[in-house]
Amino acid sequence: MTARIGATVIALATFFVDTFTTTEVAIAVMYGAVVLLAVDFATWQRVLLVGIACIVATLGSFLATHGLDTSGGELARCIVSLSAIGVTTLLAVRMKATMLTLHEQAQLLDLTHDTVFVRDAADHITFWNRGAEVLYGWPREAALGQDTHKLLQTEFPAPLPSIMAELRRTGRWEGELMHRRRDGSQVIVASRWSLQERGSSFAVLETNTDITAHRHAESQTRQAQASLAHVSRVATMGELTASIAHEVNQPLAAIVAHGEAALRWLNRPVPELEEVRLGLERIIGDGRRAADVIQRLRALARKDEPQRVPLDLREVIRGILPLVQPEIRHHRVALRLELPELPAVIGDKVQLQQVIINLVMNGIQAMALVADKPRALTIEVHEEAGEHPGERIVIEVSDTGPGIAADKLDQLFEAFYSTKPDGMGIGLSICRSIIAAHGGRIWASAREGGGASFHIALPVAGSGA
Ligand code: ADP
Repeated sequence: MTARIGATVIALATFFVDTFTTTEVAIAVMYGAVVLLAVDFATWQRVLLVGIACIVATLGSFLATHGLDTSGGELARCIVSLSAIGVTTLLAVRMKATMLTLHEQAQLLDLTHDTVFVRDAADHITFWNRGAEVLYGWPREAALGQDTHKLLQTEFPAPLPSIMAELRRTGRWEGELMHRRRDGSQVIVASRWSLQERGSSFAVLETNTDITAHRHAESQTRQAQASLAHVSRVATMGELTASIAHEVNQPLAAIVAHGEAALRWLNRPVPELEEVRLGLERIIGDGRRAADVIQRLRALARKDEPQRVPLDLREVIRGILPLVQPEIRHHRVALRLELPELPAVIGDKVQLQQVIINLVMNGIQAMALVADKPRALTIEVHEEAGEHPGERIVIEVSDTGPGIAADKLDQLFEAFYSTKPDGMGIGLSICRSIIAAHGGRIWASAREGGGASFHIALPVAGSGA
């Protein structure tokens, strides 16, 4: 508005002075200011019209004061003024067209559903698109000038100084952020930052995609998988119950027997204290054995969130032995262990034990069908470079059962594939999802000399895989 009034006043004043006074100055160049002010409020076509009007006014004033007299300095002054107005008009029209293009390009950013905003070196917002208004609920006027991280209460996946250091070094950063909307609700975004150097300072262009629904769906799938894994674990424990009950019963019976013997030694006219001590030590040993089995069973039955901790696979495998050994003895299977010391893997102990118990039970059940061959089950771990980066440790469980037809090797891992009359067919599919969640791979192969082998390749701790 002020530009419009200013332009009108200057135009009238210039016209008045130019027409009714006899100044020696090329006063008409002041029309240039009128054209420049018009850029502020007029379209480029109108800026052009203003320029033409100024030229006409200049010519009109000249004709009114000097007629057709082309002698003297007046004509030169008039020509200078006309050139100045002409050049200014051309530049102004070009400037207006460029501004229009820039404005249209900025409006394009409003079409995207992603949020796009720019913040300066002090984290103050200088641009805020329509997507950002919709996602965060802050209108542009309220967001501009605000501190981004305060406004959105950003939670970072790493300390901000280290993120900024990476941004300054590489010019880019990508990661997941937690933001808060204006109404206080949380939103998870996949965020991409690009650095724009501005002399000694810089600006950051931040583009965010809302992945809240995606993350929730993932977490629900994870929970469903965890519940299924739990159900399958409990089902396996059901299969093991009879032999485990026997395993616990046996030390309990031994405790009673040792207790009775110790009492007899005590009741002698001269108590045999050394024998009593031995008896008590045996009682403690047997009690620990029973408690150990129960504790492992309980760990397996618990429904905890999966953990990610460094694990020694020898310990993981030895931990399942009290649970599967009764079954192994019952089916007269020879168990061979090859457990050299290897680097740690990162994972969840109970889940990995569940996988190995599944493979061991499958092996025992497969060999139950074989009567004419020795039943041997081998669990071994070794280190080898896998197909994928980071895969280094391989656990192998092999048996001397009937083996697996080559065309079924992959099918086994599909859910509900079972050849057993009472099989659920989910054991191996759960093993596969557990191992995939550990960043590893599980596959089956034919064992040399007959039987089946199951292999689990896992990344070692610290390999970044
Ligand atoms: P289930 O044991 O309930 O059948 P799994 O997913 O554990 O479910 O196994 C799927 C199928 O894979 C089994 O029914 C069996 O046909 C086959 N299988 C698994 N382990 C072996 C093995 N060691 N030897 C031969 N076949 C096996």
